[in-house]
Amino acid sequence: MGKLFGTNGVRGVFSEDFTLEFVHDLILSISTYFKEGTILVGYDGRNSSKIVSKLVCSTLNSAGMDCDLTGLVPTPCLEFATKTLGYNGGIMITASHNPPEYNGIKPVASDGVEISREDENVIEDIFFKKNWKETSSVFGSTRNDDRAIQTYLDGIKSQVDVSKIKSRKLKVVLDLGNGTQAVTAIKLCEQLGCETITINQEIDGTFSGRGPEPTPYNLEELSSTVVNNNADLGIAFDGDGDRSIFCDNTGVLLSGDKSALLLSNYLLKKNPNSKVVTCINSGNSIDEIVTQTNSTVMRTKVGSIEVSRKMLTENALIGFEENGGFMFGKHNQVRDGGMTLALFLELLVDSNKSISEELATLPPSFTTKDKISCKKEDVDRIISKLSDEFPNADTTDGIKIVFDKKNWIMVRPSGTEPIIRIYAESDSEKNLETLMTEYIQKIKSFVDR
Ligand code: MG
Repeated sequence: MGKLFGTNGVRGVFSEDFTLEFVHDLILSISTYFKEGTILVGYDGRNSSKIVSKLVCSTLNSAGMDCDLTGLVPTPCLEFATKTLGYNGGIMITASHNPPEYNGIKPVASDGVEISREDENVIEDIFFKKNWKETSSVFGSTRNDDRAIQTYLDGIKSQVDVSKIKSRKLKVVLDLGNGTQAVTAIKLCEQLGCETITINQEIDGTFSGRGPEPTPYNLEELSSTVVNNNADLGIAFDGDGDRSIFCDNTGVLLSGDKSALLLSNYLLKKNPNSKVVTCINSGNSIDEIVTQTNSTVMRTKVGSIEVSRKMLTENALIGFEENGGFMFGKHNQVRDGGMTLALFLELLVDSNKSISEELATLPPSFTTKDKISCKKEDVDRIISKLSDEFPNADTTDGIKIVFDKKNWIMVRPSGTEPIIRIYAESDSEKNLETLMTEYIQKIKSFVDR
């Protein structure tokens, strides 16, 4: 049977493989899976999103299901509203950080978390067998629901000490990346009494600023704006606002691993004996941090859904990915740029230190990642060549070659784009660079052949 779902939802290039006919059939399959109840529908700022949302709603209605349209919102806002407002499920129209020509569909369960891998298989089975419920004799209806944004902001604020944060009047730079956190993060900062400076704040389907994916390599403007304005903190979101990359008060950009270490250190001291879930491609310094608070860390395959669903079954406090996806279990078991921002602000207020001083207290951690464009057959050849060379390597997800606790490299095909990703950790910046250079050359030699 074919695959529709990648690492995170169904994605494709609009009008090429992600056609209106495809969306129609996919939504009939999803509505058959949901069976009944009202579905909350939201979308990101891509040029095709509004058109797709109309088709999603009318297809749900034609299958006899009601839906409420919440309009343009970040993915974590749609997810939190689905759970909190009592919907039977949610559908988010987004391709997250993919290039502008893409779009996608992400089904959300009534618990506010992306549906499980098993449920994705159920939908794929319905889709490929065309086993969906035929057009209903009683059509559903579409209404608007404008409660999602304030519900989301109230949910975030209920998890932090608002009056304490307000009293510090922190100065924050928001790089909204022309994405959907523009409708929530600015309001959140206002409601938390921050002085806010925004960049790339216009929602724009072509992501004309610095593109939809924030990485420590394309955020020079965020970094310089923090320094020039003497701000306490900078943050950049991805296109649909679930991931966040931070910048300290000296303009240094933090990897997702580093900001997760900082937040985990803070949250675990307040909540000892807790559980942390992360993927096998994030660094090992988290092991030292959990030990200090009698907590534990569990590892999953790469993918936020694996982390989210594990958090639910384990009742974990924290979940994170190395790419800036951070989950706070008391709020919702999903990556949430807005919630993560609020936690960072509380950390700053509680510690009385700057972010750079806070970072200096953490165990050293040197992690990095890179990507190489390549075709499917190249991916298979790369993995099999590396497996031949390292027969004992971990092949749970791509291939992870572990030299020792602090030195490893992992190679894995992207679940959303035609690229292969390389992740590494080492015991020093210099050794990390040497390791990456060696393996990038090795992998490129497998592709060129
Ligand atoms: Mg995203």
